[in-house]
Amino acid sequence: MAKRVLVVEDNELNLKLFCDLLRAHDYVAEPVRDGREAVDSARAFTPDLIIMDIQLPHVSGLELIETLKGDADLSAIPIMAVTAYAGKGDEERIRAAGAESYVSKPISVMRFVESVESLLAAAPKPAGEEKAPGPDEAGDAPPVT
Ligand code: MN
Repeated sequence: MAKRVLVVEDNELNLKLFCDLLRAHDYVAEPVRDGREAVDSARAFTPDLIIMDIQLPHVSGLELIETLKGDADLSAIPIMAVTAYAGKGDEERIRAAGAESYVSKPISVMRFVESVESLLAAAPKPAGEEKAPGPDEAGDAPPVT
């Protein structure tokens, strides 16, 4: 199953770039332009990852991260923050709010994709979603008699 990524970003060009990049890597991308809809959208879309712009009108991305991380239903979803201001203090504030990672704008395409992939690889698999056995799980095969 394709992984689902909710993208909260008010800037149209960035939103399109992020969604295009995600779709090019076979993710299902759901855009959210208004941060005030982010929590409801996360509930409705059930994403595997949330990409969160920090600089939003009406609402702070940091506060949204805190809200998501304080919600029993949503707190397990990893959050990748995206910010134009990635000074030392900003990174600490983003981490303190609960984001698992951040990338700074203007983004490096490679760093963006690597960060998405590593967060999704680290996320616990939902119950019932079994991975096909790989070569390193050959030990589970029944003994040859
Ligand atoms: Mn913004």
